[in-house]
Amino acid sequence: MDSSPFALLFEPLQIGPVTTRNRFYQTPHCNGMGNLRPDAHARMRGIKAEGGWGIVNTENCSVHPSSDLMPEVLQTLWDVGDIPVLARMVEAVHEHNSLAGVQLAYSTYYNGNRLTREIPLGPMSRPVSGYHPVQVRGMDKQDIRNLHDWWAAASRRALQAGFDIINVDSNFSTIAFQFLSPRNQRADEYGGSLVNRTRLLKELIEVSREATQGKCAISVRLIIDELCGPMGLQAKDEGIEAIGLLAELPDLWDLVVGTWADDSPSSRFASENDHEPFMLGIKSVTTKPVVGVGRFTSPDTMASMLRRGVLDLIGAARPSIADPFLPNKIKEGRYDDIRECIGCNICVSSHFAMTNLRCTQNPTMGEEWRRGWHPEYIEHKKSESEILVIGAGPAGLECARALGQRGYQVTLAERTTQLGGRVTREGEHLPGLREWLRVRDWRITQLNKLPNVGIYMDSDLSIPDIVEFGAAHVVMATGSAWRADGVGRATDRPIPVDDSVQVLSPDDIMDAVPVINGPVLVYDDDHYYMGSVIAEKLARQGFEVVIATPAADISAFTANTLELARVVKCLDECGVAMRTHSILASVEGGEAQFLHPYTGRSQQLTVGSVVMVTSRIANDKLFYSLQTYVEQEAGNKILTVGRVGDCLAPAAIFQAVYTGHKYARDFEAEPEATVAKRERVVLQNVRLV
Ligand code: ADP
Ligand code: SF4
Repeated sequence: MDSSPFALLFEPLQIGPVTTRNRFYQTPHCNGMGNLRPDAHARMRGIKAEGGWGIVNTENCSVHPSSDLMPEVLQTLWDVGDIPVLARMVEAVHEHNSLAGVQLAYSTYYNGNRLTREIPLGPMSRPVSGYHPVQVRGMDKQDIRNLHDWWAAASRRALQAGFDIINVDSNFSTIAFQFLSPRNQRADEYGGSLVNRTRLLKELIEVSREATQGKCAISVRLIIDELCGPMGLQAKDEGIEAIGLLAELPDLWDLVVGTWADDSPSSRFASENDHEPFMLGIKSVTTKPVVGVGRFTSPDTMASMLRRGVLDLIGAARPSIADPFLPNKIKEGRYDDIRECIGCNICVSSHFAMTNLRCTQNPTMGEEWRRGWHPEYIEHKKSESEILVIGAGPAGLECARALGQRGYQVTLAERTTQLGGRVTREGEHLPGLREWLRVRDWRITQLNKLPNVGIYMDSDLSIPDIVEFGAAHVVMATGSAWRADGVGRATDRPIPVDDSVQVLSPDDIMDAVPVINGPVLVYDDDHYYMGSVIAEKLARQGFEVVIATPAADISAFTANTLELARVVKCLDECGVAMRTHSILASVEGGEAQFLHPYTGRSQQLTVGSVVMVTSRIANDKLFYSLQTYVEQEAGNKILTVGRVGDCLAPAAIFQAVYTGHKYARDFEAEPEATVAKRERVVLQNVRLV
């Protein structure tokens, strides 16, 4: 390792009273498990430590009931009853000699305190963010003294839980940052000058230090630029100056840029290491270690950040989700085994859904405890069974890979001359999705290492082919096709469209079917990325494009992937006209008629062609034909016929990878081993009948 160009990533580093074994820092990240599913949470964090992350942090951990972010699933240290939940995580992290950090937070402006019904507090009186009809009360001096006490008590509980690092959260949703931001208009010693505005952060650092008696390192997670110009904190202006003011007070600076959407942009809009310009100059105002993020997956970029003195530790949330074993793989020189994050932000969407974290690249994420899935290990095969997997999209690739990893003899047959299915089509033919090709590329690399998996392209299998092949188990991963008739969420029957316009589907656009006439209406009743990327593509080709949707927002689901604002900005910059609240009722004589979903009022639009982005139909004919054959033909050798991915039910790519993986895990498993465990609320005084 010493001679490796990446050796410096594995050098220990002292952080106040503790020492990290390497430079890999799993930044705090939400996960939808939190204190509602503590075993699942602890197991997930423990696996990060096992995979080599030297420091593993919790997500937002509230210090007091007046900082209640419900319904978001996070952590709390409100009383001693919370300690065992977090101690479980600490134990799981310590088991692998990593340090455990807790992100202590007192939220403001973002919390309606919906569960606790405490009055939200903040620097100033104003409504809470979002549309919850509640206002924040501006804090008086007694409130600030109370906050000190709450913060001290939570710090002591964190120490009791065994944490090594207390991270004083000064992120966008927290009190310390909202006092620091120039948007704080207080007239007392906590407002006005930068010194005044950093006062609360300084006090909270000191409170944690004193409460933990120097036993824990104290870090600060701070926004250095709000990305909103002079309205907010700017790095070049007061951001770096604020760090300079508190330079040596914490033991580590953990730096963030903007809101969550700015800090975790999707790959459609930002590449690896896009925060570097904001990090330059930090090291000149503090001698303390600095950590930053940038969806780092390349060992070269990581080493360069350290070598050039930009950062001391590599912070990562998403890369650690996509590959919890990323550090170990670098250490072992297994670079092509790194399962690189594709920057799709499906992980973020699980936080907003308050469900276990999920990841497009890593189907085991969030399933470590409840299904017992490990990202690197899988149960060895139980028999000499042979499996034929038909279709090499994300579902088929993952299914074949995981079955192959188990040691089974697998054949993967693909109709076309390319592997990757929809990932290849979308990544290569639609704007902004190239990084998604990593879903395909990692799996091909792994499959090529498995001598027990044979891959056959240009193999369009029919029932006689399958029967002749002779495998006992057949899995269909044959994907789906986009409908062009408009059936979707808003409309159960085909939309009447006469022949005055050309009607296309997303598949046609990816197949480069020429669009003959504009203006082009992209009718989006799918609500994820497909409508907007097609609108963008056609607008860039020079067409006049209108995107219309029944929803209140364009690409509504992308609010969950933190992309919504960027999607709308991108379409606007491309000149795409946008119509919301518009159900497409019909197209006749070149006139599209829309109905408002609430009022029923109709509106017309002249169009030359329509791209229907509404829903898909599973390619399951082969599945049903084979099932019928197996049932009716006596003496045939096929024992099971399965289906995965879009052939099972069309969905986003993360679901295709998951169902492909699940098939492989469940194959020849005892039925009870395929059932997910649940964490239940324990009732007191239950009378069993
Ligand atoms: P998923 O997302 O479920 O993996 P995709 O649409 O991405 O689905 O991939 C399905 C793949 O299956 C495509 O690459 C397609 O060419 C292939 N395919 C479909 N039917 C057959 C068939 N009869 N024989 C072989 N390959 C097939
Ligand atoms: Fe990366 Fe997407 Fe996985 Fe999130 S869900 S970690 S963005 S691959």
